[in-house]
Amino acid sequence: ILVTCIAIPKKTLKTVELEETIPFSAIDSPIRIGFSMDTLLEERWLRDRDLFKEAVEALGAEIEIVAANGDDALQISQAEALIQSGIDLLVIVPHNAEATAAIVHKAHLADIQVIAYDRLVKNADLDLYVSFDNEQVGEMQAKAITALVPKGNYVFIGGAITDNNAHLLKKGVFNVLRPYIERGDIKIVYDQWTKDWTPVNAQANMEEALRTTNKQIDAVIAANDATAGGVIQALAAVGLAGQVPVAGQDADLAGVQRIVTGTQTMTVYKPIKMLTQEMAKLAVAMAKGEKVSAEQKVNNGKIEVPSVLLTPIAVNEHNLDSTVIFDGFHSFKDVYQVT
Ligand code: BGC
Repeated sequence: ILVTCIAIPKKTLKTVELEETIPFSAIDSPIRIGFSMDTLLEERWLRDRDLFKEAVEALGAEIEIVAANGDDALQISQAEALIQSGIDLLVIVPHNAEATAAIVHKAHLADIQVIAYDRLVKNADLDLYVSFDNEQVGEMQAKAITALVPKGNYVFIGGAITDNNAHLLKKGVFNVLRPYIERGDIKIVYDQWTKDWTPVNAQANMEEALRTTNKQIDAVIAANDATAGGVIQALAAVGLAGQVPVAGQDADLAGVQRIVTGTQTMTVYKPIKMLTQEMAKLAVAMAKGEKVSAEQKVNNGKIEVPSVLLTPIAVNEHNLDSTVIFDGFHSFKDVYQVT
């Protein structure tokens, strides 16, 4: 009986013979979730970190958080350290969809399940994927912009080529644009990825688009609000900010402020709290050994990954108050810059 009081790691316990006779709760230490993040250098991911931590802890579990700030080798070594520290389950936001397959493999060797958070890990035996429907994000952007500009020269400023979400978003955008392009109504005059999704790289791309087209641009679809910010700076430098519709994604504070001032047309709002709560519930259940059900499937090049895909919301100046502000994602004061 005394033995049962000693803090035996859960993994070890599974292998000892006493397992059957010891009530699990009597020796159970809290579930520990490892959270390996790509970056904390962007607004949305700080919110993801804080809300996910809150949601995991609200379920009585513990969380270890690491962030690699865009460094693939660092993300792998940080994840290895988490695996070695004896976490019960690993949640990962991959910087590089392909490189992180190595992490999934290593976790599985240690009998630890892996869930991809927001971004898919490609070519790996991933256990679960929880995200928003990223193809739908692109479709929402293109629907909003084609409603305003059904004909003309379009620029597409994509996300990071290393991020599967950037590919899904592009697919969604072109699902909507294709018939317009085929009819000859819309011409894609510039189409480029943005290394690491940074505003400065997006701005450089947009400057190139303006140069190579002699400023003959009627609309821009940017993969997120960070890249939209770079695009709008480039437009402002040639006096076109507010003249050319621009779409973004994330409902970043700067993005929604630009919607209010009229330099950005729309954004796609993804209620991060919903994502973190869903993720925490699934992660803790799986870490406890419970079976979770996920009806959707996303192919990652190796398997059909069980997936949960939440619905994003298109936001413009008309529904900003009833969505982003209503949810408390940003305050009225911040959005409208009321002093
Ligand atoms: C996310 C976006 C985010 C982007 C850059 C994507 O994978 O889905 O919400 O803006 O990464 O961090």
